[in-house]
Amino acid sequence: MAKVTGTFQIGDLQISQLSDGATFRDPKILFDGVDELERTKALGLENISDLIPFNFSSFLVESPTSKWLVDTAYGHRDPEPDTESCAELLLRLSEKGVEPNDIDFVVHSHLHYDHVGWNLNKDDEITFPNATHFVSESEFDWWINYAGNDHPLKEKVQAKFKPLIDNNQVQTFVGDYKVNEYLTMIYAPGHTPGHCVQLIDSGNESLMIVGDAAHHPQHLVHQNWHPIFDWDRPQAFAARKKIAAIAVEKNSIVTGVHWPVLTLAKLSEKNGSFQLEFIDQNK
Ligand SMILES: [Zn+2]
Repeated sequence: MAKVTGTFQIGDLQISQLSDGATFRDPKILFDGVDELERTKALGLENISDLIPFNFSSFLVESPTSKWLVDTAYGHRDPEPDTESCAELLLRLSEKGVEPNDIDFVVHSHLHYDHVGWNLNKDDEITFPNATHFVSESEFDWWINYAGNDHPLKEKVQAKFKPLIDNNQVQTFVGDYKVNEYLTMIYAPGHTPGHCVQLIDSGNESLMIVGDAAHHPQHLVHQNWHPIFDWDRPQAFAARKKIAAIAVEKNSIVTGVHWPVLTLAKLSEKNGSFQLEFIDQNK
């Protein structure tokens, strides 16, 4: 059984990763064109054909004054074989004693469908009626306003935003953007045109939630290893370099919405090569 929820503390903040689906993926997709042996070794796998655990999840952050979500995961859908906690984000949230009305705001790393799913509930109503949804302006324009975006799921993404736009619940921003005293959106485009990661500071602790700049921790080590999904590889490479430098400088804990619950690590750099040290949650 995969872990489907986990909670830890960063300064004054309680952070919970909430799974909306724990499953597996073929590493070929996440490390496109990378030498098979090199990839298998870096991932610590025995065989080239081994699958790796993969999650669709959201993070709940509870501060003394507000509660927010990082992404809204995959959303309501039919049960999927080989996927635990499928479409159970709201159940995971209620297990934390939090109801959708309690969410003050949502920040979106980007608008791929598996990060906006629960913007609407199973009845296609707004799930978080009191929440402002923050999205970078270039990301929002790409999906909502730009006719040249021919992504096959564009209309489904737009449908997840239409009621929020009509209800004035969307706020866009440009570049790096401080949302509140704890949270800064770091502009890291390349996976999509306006992708951002979330940098969270409280006390003397720091957390970076890396979104799809790193589908897997090894993307932070091998910053030129790309998933098939990256929209612009040179930009995605530059974004990974930018966020890795920030994570090293701030000694941040790094984690990701697609990483198994709770995968937490520290990144370090020596002579231009990067290393991860994973944090044992059972200590
Ligand atoms: Zn994703």
